[in-house]
Order: sequence, then C-alpha cells, then structure tokens
Amino acid sequence: MPSFDYDLFVIGGGSGGVRAARMAAATGARVALAEESRMGGTCVIRGCVPKKLMVFASGYAEMMSDARAYGWDLADGTFDWGVFRGKLHAELDRLEGVYRKLLGNSGVEIFDTRARLTGPHDIALADGRAVSAKHILIATGGRPQRPEMTNAEVGLVSDDIFDLDQLPGSILIVGGGYIACEFAGILNGLGVNVTQYYRGAQILRGFDDEARGLVAEAMRARGVDLHCGTNILEIARVDDGIRVKSTNGTERNFDQVLFATGRVPNTEGLGLDAIGLVPGRRGEVVVDSYSQTSVPSIFAIGDVTHRVQLTPVAIREGMAFVETVFNGNPTPVDHELIPSAVFTQPELGTVGLTEEEAREREPVEIYATSFRPMQHAFAGRSDRVLMKLIVARDSRKVLGCHIVADNAGEMIQLAGIAVKMGATKEDFDRTVAVHPTMAEELVTMREPVRTA
Ligand code: NDP
Repeated sequence: MPSFDYDLFVIGGGSGGVRAARMAAATGARVALAEESRMGGTCVIRGCVPKKLMVFASGYAEMMSDARAYGWDLADGTFDWGVFRGKLHAELDRLEGVYRKLLGNSGVEIFDTRARLTGPHDIALADGRAVSAKHILIATGGRPQRPEMTNAEVGLVSDDIFDLDQLPGSILIVGGGYIACEFAGILNGLGVNVTQYYRGAQILRGFDDEARGLVAEAMRARGVDLHCGTNILEIARVDDGIRVKSTNGTERNFDQVLFATGRVPNTEGLGLDAIGLVPGRRGEVVVDSYSQTSVPSIFAIGDVTHRVQLTPVAIREGMAFVETVFNGNPTPVDHELIPSAVFTQPELGTVGLTEEEAREREPVEIYATSFRPMQHAFAGRSDRVLMKLIVARDSRKVLGCHIVADNAGEMIQLAGIAVKMGATKEDFDRTVAVHPTMAEELVTMREPVRTA
C-alpha cells in the first residue's frame, strides 16, 4: 500500500469544500485544504451573504415610506454606502475567521495557497511544495463570466459590487437570471438609477411563467427600467461613464455596467489535463452521482461540477462524498425537489415543477391566487403576491409550489418539506390555516383556476 501525506486533500475553501473537509476529519481522516483566496468562498465572501445583507439594506427605503403610511412620523433618510460597506466587510472578516476556526478545530491543515493536480494522488502547491493524498476533492467553485465582446472588461461583475468606492448614480445590468434581478432590486432600493437589459422575452428563464411575470411587474413598479428582448451590442469607456449601444437602437451613457451573464466553473490551471480529466462543455469537472470523476481517487463537488449552483447543494454533495468515501456508505446526491429563492423585491420562492413543465408530463390542476396583502394594501402599495400550487390530477401530489411575496424564501423552505414528502393537495387542505397570514392561501384554495 502506498503511503500518502493525507487521506483527503480538498482544493477550495468554499461552503462545499469546508464542510467536506470538516466531516471527513471528524471520521479520523488526515485532511488538508488549500484555498488561494479568502476562506468561505463565493457564498460567504462575494455571494449569498453580502448579497443578503445588501437586500436588507435596500429594503429600508420602502419600510420607511410604509411606516409613514402606518402613522409613524419619519423624515426621509439617506443611505451612506461608506458606513454600510465598512460594516459589511467587518462582518465578512468575522465570518471568514469563523470558517478558519471551524476548520482548525476539526484538525484540518490549511494551506493558504493555490493547488494544482499533478497526478491521481498528487498536488503541487503554488509555494513550491508537493503533497500526496489518497483522495482529492475538487471544490473550486465558479466565477462570473462577461460576454465575449470588445471592452467587456469595463463592465463590473457581481464580485466587484461589494468593493465599490461609491454607489453609481446609474447602472445598466445585463442579464435576466438570479444575480441580475437581485442586484436590480438591491441597487434600485439603495437609490441607484437602474436599467436592466435581458435578451429573452421574460426575465428568470426556467421559473414558473406566472411568477416571472409578477416579479417583472413588481420590479418595474419599483422603478427598475427593465427592457426584455434587448441586449448590449457595443460598450466603451467615455469621459462621463460607459457608453452602451444596444439592440433596441439606443446609445446611452451609464456610470457603471454590471454583467450578470452567468458563471463558469473554475477549472483553468487546475491540472485536469495532467491527470487525463476532460472537462465538460462548460469547462466543468464531470462527475457521476457519487461526485466521482473518471479518475477513481478524484471527486468534485459544488459549482465546479456545474450541476446545481446553490450553496446548500454543494454542502450536501460534500456530505454525501464523505459518507460514501469515509463512512463506507455509498450515498448518491439527491438533486430532486430543491427549494430555492430569488431575493428580488418581492422574493420568488419555488420548489418542484413549473406549470409549464408539469403540463408536459401529466394532467394537472393549477391552484393559484394573486392578491394585495393586508400589510401593503393598508400602506397604499399596489403590490400583489402570488401563491400557486401545481397538482397532479391523478395522484393528487403537489408537484410544484411557487410563491411571490415578501419573505417567500422563508415560506418556500417550509412548503418544500411538504412537497419533498410527497404531500397531496388534500394534505395541504386538511392543514388548518394560520390567520391572518399570506401563506394561509396555500391551504385554502378550493377550486383549480385551470386544468391542463
Ligand atoms: P444565470 O444563469 O441564472 O443567468 C444568466 C443570465 O445572463 C441569463 O438571463 C442569460 O440569458 C444571460 N446571459 C448569458 N449570456 C449572455 C450574453 N452573452 N449576453 C446577454 N445575456 C446573457 O446566472 P447568474 O449569473 O444570475 O447566477 C448564476 C447562478 O448562481 C444561478 O444559476 C444560481 O444557481 C446561483 N445563484 C443563486 C442565488 C439564489 O439562490 N438566490 C443568487 C445568485 C446566484 P438566457 O436566460 O437567455 O440564457
């Protein structure tokens, strides 16, 4: 038996890599982890966490105006980006420290440097050291990609937003996915003049059509200048900002442009070729349902595999990997019925099939209600929320649940349990409503609005 320096070497200190390293170390394995940037990865340092704090920050403008409608005597305040950014980065430093400490306490050896594969069990570190491991876990995540066009580098990507010296007066956001729509809402709420170009007919492709429509409507109502069927043709830095020529025939100046045009796996320079691993079409590490590559000692989890780009999924993939390899209990990763939320204003929470997907598969009944919630109606806001269930006509199972409302992310987490358990429409119906809430509509919809 060859002897290795470690039982497991993890490349990448994001949510997935850190969790896998800690869990493996807890089984008694000798584990090391290399991270070239900050511990915590995309989610903690330049993704979910700072984004959600910005979502909170941006919501206060609307809350202040609502508060006045409820009788509070409040003057309009102004948002100080400098103050917020300072606190934001202090919080990220704290969280990075927590991640580091958790790893250290688990007995994982940390290498603050870049690692490259040189063989099925071999790793070269950027500082010149070479180490070996029985198993290697690639958890290098992904990074934002700009469209391939001249001068694309003058546009920002999501990583850059958290480090801006000052908020721009105006910004063009290109894209219609999670990141584009979330930042459109955030920056609009913080007082930036936001224009958004999306090349398709409706934002949030892949989500339920009715839900996408309602989110788009709400974004426009809040002041986001959203143009669908529009893309950027040319971009150039000029004296007073960035000049953009677009497919709608306009040429406009913006202070900043943000490309939220998708993310690509971080496999460049990783040494995949050295060990005969051929990346997939998007540059991803190709794995089977146990996260194992075609080189048996090498596994990969998280965004670098381009399966489902969500933190909790990367964490689960990491845990399934440890269960399979270190606990001798082969555990495939369950990618079925993953609830998720887009943190737009209002939020979109979703689990299961969209109406459009379900219709293609089997006869369905659609239960949906859209209404002005009590809290907003009283404040004079015209916002509507959507509660929607997709039900299989024959089995009665709830195949999908879609919620557009404040805190839809919180609601869909709970609805997701019922859907994952295989709840039927009748199970929803026999659950007593919590009154008065928005979510009670999920258990009080009696007649389908349509069948298909
Ligand atoms: P998405 O893949 O969700 O969206 C990319 C968007 O950019 C799409 O609208 C796409 O259009 C458009 N696009 C792609 N290429 C071009 C181009 N060359 N020119 C113009 N438009 C283009 O990626 P995001 O970057 O928004 O997010 C990446 C992933 O991160 C998400 O898929 C999600 O899994 C995860 N994420 C999750 C969050 C959450 O859970 N709340 C928050 C943020 C990110 P088209 O639709 O036509 O392809």
